[in-house]
Amino acid sequence: MNLPKYAYFKNKIVPYAEAKVGVLTHALNYGTGVFGGVRAYKNDDDGNLYLFRPYDHYKRFLNSCKMMLMDFDETPESMTQHTIDLIRKSGFREDVYIRPLAYKSDEIIGVKLHDVGADFTIVALPFGKYVSNDTNAHVTISSWRRLDDNVIPARGKISGAYANSAFIKTDAMRSGFDEALVLTQAGHLSEGSAENIFMVRDGVLYTPAVYENILEGITRRSIMEVAEKELGMKVVERPIDRTEIYICDEFFMTGTAAQVTAITQVDHRPVGDGVMGPVASKLRELFFDIVRGKNPNYKDWNVEV
Ligand code: PMP
Repeated sequence: MNLPKYAYFKNKIVPYAEAKVGVLTHALNYGTGVFGGVRAYKNDDDGNLYLFRPYDHYKRFLNSCKMMLMDFDETPESMTQHTIDLIRKSGFREDVYIRPLAYKSDEIIGVKLHDVGADFTIVALPFGKYVSNDTNAHVTISSWRRLDDNVIPARGKISGAYANSAFIKTDAMRSGFDEALVLTQAGHLSEGSAENIFMVRDGVLYTPAVYENILEGITRRSIMEVAEKELGMKVVERPIDRTEIYICDEFFMTGTAAQVTAITQVDHRPVGDGVMGPVASKLRELFFDIVRGKNPNYKDWNVEV
């Protein structure tokens, strides 16, 4: 991977090589960071880049900071502006992925959240697909369990919690799958290692509710709204049992990185007909138009760089 040229670091844009921390940094040792992932998409018609729902991403990011007792003099609007400044300075004219990271920056020994200094940084880099098989993904059910809200809150997008996602993803990929779905302690489907999940059964769209230890995904929320408004579908948030996906009509995952990824096999069993279904296909089409700023009904989700 090519390293970015610039980073937003300690309240200004600096060459990426200057955005460095010491090995004693609290977050590096204890996982006391929180992060986000935002995309900017190129619109080939007008040549502009559009950030997708950056205010919602940064609202979640600042809420994650709050959870971890990190207090910055920032708003979703100011964070969006730093992001725009960074992308402009970097001169990107293609799709980019933006990674904001807030971290306990004091170089001290001591596991705690209170009275530890914090900083944040933003980097941006060109980015394509995260799941390469995004119309035909094969997944398994992970033997790892999703972290519980009372262990490390999933809604917080906390760096340390992603060791859980890393276990899930590596075992899945080493077994030849594209991704794995993970169960809650109670045994219901929660999400993928870095994606929310959706199931179609008899024309209804189901997704695990926020109490199922999911990250409250911005893409998830967008897809729920688009499915209701554009496809006239009923969208229901409820627990999903693992065997429901053996018999459902369609299954797909959503996320900033994964976008809308159709799952066509679970544990070597075909999902529905074993090919991407009409709902996932239609939602992908709508999604890519919306994120590229080509759908006038959703223009308020696009922020021009
Ligand atoms: N769940 C997890 C665990 C994730 O890391 C992500 C990626 N941020 C998502 C779901 C999808 O969230 P979003 O649509 O906001 O990117």
